[in-house]
Amino acid sequence: MATSLTTFTDEALIAFDTLAERATGLFSPTLRLGVTGLSRAGKTVFISAFVHNLIHGGRLPLFEAQKSGRIARAFLEEQPDDAVPRFQYEDHIGALVDDRVWPDSTRAISELRLTIEYESASAWGRLLSSGRLSVDIVDYPGEWLLDLPLLGKSYAEFSHEAFELVHLPVREELSAEWRELAATVDASAPADETLARRLAEVFAGYLRACKQDQRALSTLPPGRFLMPGDLDGSPALTFAPLPKLAGDRGRPGSLHAMMERRYEAYKTHVIKPFFREHVARLDRQIVLIDALQALNAGPDALVDLERALTEILSCFRPGRGNLLSDLFSHRIGRILIAATKADHLHHESHDRLQAIVRRLADRAIARANFSGADVDVLAMAAVRATREGTVKQGRETLPVIIGTPLKGETIGNETFDGETETAVFPGDLPEKPGAVFAPPKERAKVMDDPLIRFVRFRPPRIERTSEGVSLSLPHIRLDRALQFLVGDRLA
Ligand code: GDP
Repeated sequence: MATSLTTFTDEALIAFDTLAERATGLFSPTLRLGVTGLSRAGKTVFISAFVHNLIHGGRLPLFEAQKSGRIARAFLEEQPDDAVPRFQYEDHIGALVDDRVWPDSTRAISELRLTIEYESASAWGRLLSSGRLSVDIVDYPGEWLLDLPLLGKSYAEFSHEAFELVHLPVREELSAEWRELAATVDASAPADETLARRLAEVFAGYLRACKQDQRALSTLPPGRFLMPGDLDGSPALTFAPLPKLAGDRGRPGSLHAMMERRYEAYKTHVIKPFFREHVARLDRQIVLIDALQALNAGPDALVDLERALTEILSCFRPGRGNLLSDLFSHRIGRILIAATKADHLHHESHDRLQAIVRRLADRAIARANFSGADVDVLAMAAVRATREGTVKQGRETLPVIIGTPLKGETIGNETFDGETETAVFPGDLPEKPGAVFAPPKERAKVMDDPLIRFVRFRPPRIERTSEGVSLSLPHIRLDRALQFLVGDRLA
């Protein structure tokens, strides 16, 4: 009896706490939404379209609060963190809408506060909620997340693994200069700043070459070597792995000791604060992936994307065995894994793309041993640069997409001027998602490579009303993303 009474009292207290929390949060309920993904995945375009559609009351039939007319207004407010750069929304929208060029991509962390005034759907909600939600959108490079595993590795382990990777078949040629230079280095020789800089530069060059390679290799820590943010040139970034280390620790004064100290400084001053101050405070997260690029680049690139996704998901995994648990206890409740740029495909392939992303995500979730958050997947286009049509070829009617290819893009021997519209038959994705994961020989039997005819289009021309007001940016399934990421908080 006594226990059940205690239990009862505890529960009552908990309920009271929650109510009290709601009451104190009345004036400023906030939701911190992280937007990440490897470079060029579409973060900047996504955030710009997200905000533009909310502010301008875009067509969002699957975003319930908007559809039912409960959103009174959405507007930008000053962001809460003074030390974080602001996401340059106005510049990005200016580029997209006025100049019809894609905005500058994410290079470092930035933040934007969007406040939504709404009417709750339920009577209780109207009584208890303030009818305001501030969404703090935090944009950061996915490359930085890939650094988390380094927290659990010594410099010797990091070096050892880095030299194992350079011999993987796809990396061997890209790492040639780096391997040649590293072979001439004696780790136990006295520390030398010029040599350290040269090693760091050539190592970073090799990582960048992997990233830019057609085969689209994505998993390459240290992340700041690819996306330095404001740390370019600082000592914490002037290190590199060294071959054939004599022991775990370098002799004082040696190159080994110098590199080791910088590696540890990178962990302490770069990786940890980033996770503690930013990742640890997120409530929701969207992870954007460029699945189309990986699909076109072939099975190796898909394996690599899956590995990157596994590592990214591991960062959000709560509980024991996670390097982050000692840094924070706060949990991310919802994660959306979204393949953007679906406007490069005819709508018949949108569900197929989504099925492939589902397969990728399931495999990554299983490998990361991930549980404890709601994970969903989506194929979308934050900004839809194309429309659909059909072209008759002989007796066949082909589904096509129509858009304005960027200046300099080519199809066959035609080079585009950036002004002319054209129809492209993009190709289909396979009906069964498993086909794209099959080994190269099997894959060749069931599909053509490259899978999709991929042309980069200019952003769309935005229609204006008769009063000259520009309408919101067109999209594909952006409303589904909004519903999953913030919909329940506007219920
Ligand atoms: P970030 O590095 O993740 O910030 O990537 P961006 O948002 O800058 O996107 C990189 C590039 O991908 C853009 O310059 C566009 O060319 C393309 N892109 C991104 N999102 C879309 C989209 O929704 N539709 C189309 N057609 N292209 C997109």
